[in-house]
Amino acid sequence: MMGIIRKLAANITLTPQSSIRNHHKITMSRRLNARRTEGVDKNVWVEFTQLAADYKAVNLGQGFPDFSPPKFVQEAFCKAVSGGPQMHQYTRAFGHPPLVKSLAKFFSRIVGHEIDPLEDVLVTVGAYQALFCAFQALIDEGDEVIIVEPFFDCYQPMVKMVGGKAVYVPLRPKVEGSAVLSSGDWVLSAEELASKFTTRTKAIVINTPNNPLGKVYKTEELQMIADLCIKHDVLCISDEVYEWLVYDGNKHVKIASLPGMWERTITIGSGGKTFSATGWKVGWVISSGHLITHMKTIHQNCVYHCPTAAQEAIACGFEREYQLFGTPESYFQQLPAMLQQKRRKLALCLESVGLQPIMPEGGYFMIADISSVKVDLNDQSTQDEPKDFRFVKWLTKEKGLATIPVSAFYSPEHTKEFDKYIRFCFVKEDSTLDAAEDILIKWSRGQ
Ligand code: PMP
Ligand code: GLN
Repeated sequence: MMGIIRKLAANITLTPQSSIRNHHKITMSRRLNARRTEGVDKNVWVEFTQLAADYKAVNLGQGFPDFSPPKFVQEAFCKAVSGGPQMHQYTRAFGHPPLVKSLAKFFSRIVGHEIDPLEDVLVTVGAYQALFCAFQALIDEGDEVIIVEPFFDCYQPMVKMVGGKAVYVPLRPKVEGSAVLSSGDWVLSAEELASKFTTRTKAIVINTPNNPLGKVYKTEELQMIADLCIKHDVLCISDEVYEWLVYDGNKHVKIASLPGMWERTITIGSGGKTFSATGWKVGWVISSGHLITHMKTIHQNCVYHCPTAAQEAIACGFEREYQLFGTPESYFQQLPAMLQQKRRKLALCLESVGLQPIMPEGGYFMIADISSVKVDLNDQSTQDEPKDFRFVKWLTKEKGLATIPVSAFYSPEHTKEFDKYIRFCFVKEDSTLDAAEDILIKWSRGQ
């Protein structure tokens, strides 16, 4: 079965958008598209995933492992699929019972708070749908939502689509102009953050470990955010999809575990990131039942529930990890240990060709400064775009290496300030990282 899946994956080619365009259009006397679709039609993943496929580039762009999930979850999935008729039918709308039970059991131990599997957990179609349910259920027209930059791009359109107003606050390198080498050197200014809270602020969104920077928030930083949330009576949406991927002894801290935060935090996780199976699209929200109940309302009226067999497999994965927690056999120890090697490999490669990487403390990605790179970006078709967008397109088209422009993770107000970075995903087979290194070395030698 795995052989067939691999073959299928190798044969996937994406059809260019232009060739599938429908030429038979209707003209309505009324407006065709809902206003909420306006200004959110561009999507960095759609654009750059297509570009990587078109140019058959070595892909360090989109964040997914190009290696298989661990055997124990693959086997659990196969067992689920051949486990009788009920595995192919609807399960409980708000989460397959074995999965909500394992999530509640597992995370009660981490948060230090008894989590009720039926009241405090909602299983979603990936972390994406968890975010969608959170914004739809909790943000009203005119509400302000503080978003820390750089941010996973979908927060902005999701806030806009509910009529909310995104208010941005950037993480900044501690000392301007110095050689910043670690994501830990990027910090929030307490004064700047405090100044963003108003009477209209409903929520703040944080992401730790952060995509794209790799910052892992320290307890003091989370406490500062928590204090502001409590002071201003604001919710905290905490995107923690990379929670197990922390390096160099850094520790992931859940803001929901800080005093007074459980009842106002919406914690979001991803089975895809947890077990290296991004295509399964199992995610979850863990929060106090009084918040989850509103997200359930959105969920039951949009997707109703998520694929049963994938939920069953993720539940088995958590059961195993519960037993092995903290031991060397735990995947939550083995995966970050493996990724730390890959992070090192990529950092050495980037340094060797003169690209200054910012060492991530966690997550899937490493960003690098391209300011010193001299290339002639004379492609007229991209001339109005930010520098990093132009550079990434050039690198994909001319050198066959796909990456992601970092200004895509910023609001338009701050694009210019941060368009000197590009993002590399290092959660790839060593052979993929070697292929990327070959490209970069040849390029640096002018070949
Ligand atoms: N949040 C962040 C920060 C992400 O990088 C991603 C992409 N994995 C998601 C949410 C969405 O996760 P999922 O694939 O589980 O929908
Ligand atoms: N989260 C992944 C990334 O940041 C993939 C996102 C996507 O493809 N929509 O690359």
